Amino acid sequence: MISAKMVKMTEGGSAIRAMFEEGARMAAQFGRENVYDFSLGNPNIPAPERVRESILRIAAETDPMELHGYMSNAGYPEVRAKVAASLNRRFGTDFDENNILMTVGAAGGLNVLLKTLLDPGDEVLVFAPYFLEYGNYVANFDGVLKAIPANIAGSFQPDPEALRAAVTPKTKALLLNNPNNPTGVIYTKASIRALAAVLEEKQAEYGHPIYLISDEPYRELAYDGKEVPWLTKLYRNTLVGYSWSKSLSLPGERIGYVVVPSQCDDAKLIFDAAVIANRILGFVNAPSLQQKLVAECLDERTDVAAYDRNRKALYEGLTDAGFTCVYPDGAFYMWMKTPGDDREFSDRAKKHNILVVPGTSFACPGYVRIAYCVSHDMILRSLPAFRALAAEYGLILISN
Ligand code: PLP
Repeated sequence: MISAKMVKMTEGGSAIRAMFEEGARMAAQFGRENVYDFSLGNPNIPAPERVRESILRIAAETDPMELHGYMSNAGYPEVRAKVAASLNRRFGTDFDENNILMTVGAAGGLNVLLKTLLDPGDEVLVFAPYFLEYGNYVANFDGVLKAIPANIAGSFQPDPEALRAAVTPKTKALLLNNPNNPTGVIYTKASIRALAAVLEEKQAEYGHPIYLISDEPYRELAYDGKEVPWLTKLYRNTLVGYSWSKSLSLPGERIGYVVVPSQCDDAKLIFDAAVIANRILGFVNAPSLQQKLVAECLDERTDVAAYDRNRKALYEGLTDAGFTCVYPDGAFYMWMKTPGDDREFSDRAKKHNILVVPGTSFACPGYVRIAYCVSHDMILRSLPAFRALAAEYGLILISN
């Protein structure tokens, strides 16, 4: 017999993963080139060449005992110092190695932070739509995830008044994902300042800190020179989780970090507890080779221009077909309004060999998420299928 909690999680499954498997099945049936699988946020752009070169060189040149051994549970001190220096250069901060904990991706970092902060029954707030795994991460530590609708006049910027209404004395943290999965929206500095003001007010009212956990795996994926605000400068009690899964196309390698700024309430306690959490959650430490790798590739980026090209072609194709989409400023997701029920829409899309994820899977019905981290060619090939789907809903007329 498995635990009652895991029974629930097993039954819930993951709609996105299920769709991924459906995509593989359909590819076998119809041929890969005839299936338009937009379901998964798995980067299609290979890691920069420097990543490969660095892996080979690090493996060849580093003493194996040093390369493959255990180290501090926080990660190699020199790697953490390099990460801190890179952040300081980019954002004018004053971090050092004692503010940086190397993690097993963003997912590992979030679990470490939530284990560090949560007592059973503590609330974590999040703006919907949101990455549904957050619910599982919070439940891991018997916290309660409470979703707040983000939408301000269709912009999907977070609403400070909705935040004010949702905070209670049990609120431990607000989890923010910027740039956002699934909307592709970048929360602006003005939005963040407004949220910070509410959090400050509520901290003072309740007499305890409310942490802002900034989940930033898409930080480097911003288009048209749009700024992704650095939050520790805007709110004192900010903790940051970062990952190279998307910025260097390394999701399988599981490498990221957490920043605990010294200015946070209980910063030293949080950092020390997070290091222990990293160990006792079974991560022990972030992968050693990957730590050394990212330290050498801090200025490397994935080919954002290629995603940008996809973004433009897809947006143009979909809006031409009569669909309404949020024009994404960041990440690699298109958030599209569905003419009817989103689950029914995604089922009907499958009949055109299109796989998209219903908004219900992000706690926001009435939309679908289209992950455009796919080949440009697939986007172009998929557009007639999207047009046929639009015609089925009466959005456009197609003459034969
Ligand atoms: N947070 C968000 C919003 C994500 O979309 C993802 C992955 O898709 C993660 C966290 C997990 O990222 P990682 O692969 O670094 O664990």
